[in-house]
Amino acid sequence: MKNPIPNCPFCATDIAAISFYETENFRTIYNRSPILPGHSLLIPKRHFESLLDFSDAELSEIMIHAKQAIQLLLKAFNCKGFNLSLQEKEEAGQSVAHFHLHIIPRKEKDLHKPGDWYPKLIESELIDSEERQKLSHSEMIKMAEFIKKAAKIIRK
Ligand SMILES: [Zn+2]
Repeated sequence: MKNPIPNCPFCATDIAAISFYETENFRTIYNRSPILPGHSLLIPKRHFESLLDFSDAELSEIMIHAKQAIQLLLKAFNCKGFNLSLQEKEEAGQSVAHFHLHIIPRKEKDLHKPGDWYPKLIESELIDSEERQKLSHSEMIKMAEFIKKAAKIIRK
């Protein structure tokens, strides 16, 4: 674990502004280039590259954090299904070398076939960043606010 890494988008100082759920060591942010509505990323606050670098306590925090973030997203985007995906190392399609777990809420008939999310995800990770349609920083802040509002409804 190194902290922080220059030019790492997930170590950037403005990342907290686009986060909609935080625990001690992790945050979940909206994906700048979502493949479906609600597509988000669970990332560690410090720069870890690999799932294999976390302690057992951090691994359990990841899954407990993911469970809560998934519940917020399902509520905010009115979904029951979701996909989780982790790409480790370039050969597996990882584009940013800072651990990020994809959370993708799913709706019936949101894609031609339910399994089409995976090629879309790989395509979105590999396509040159200039060609990807990206949300602006202010659009991402708005999205984080939208999800946080849905979270308040859940906690009532
Ligand atoms: Zn980083």
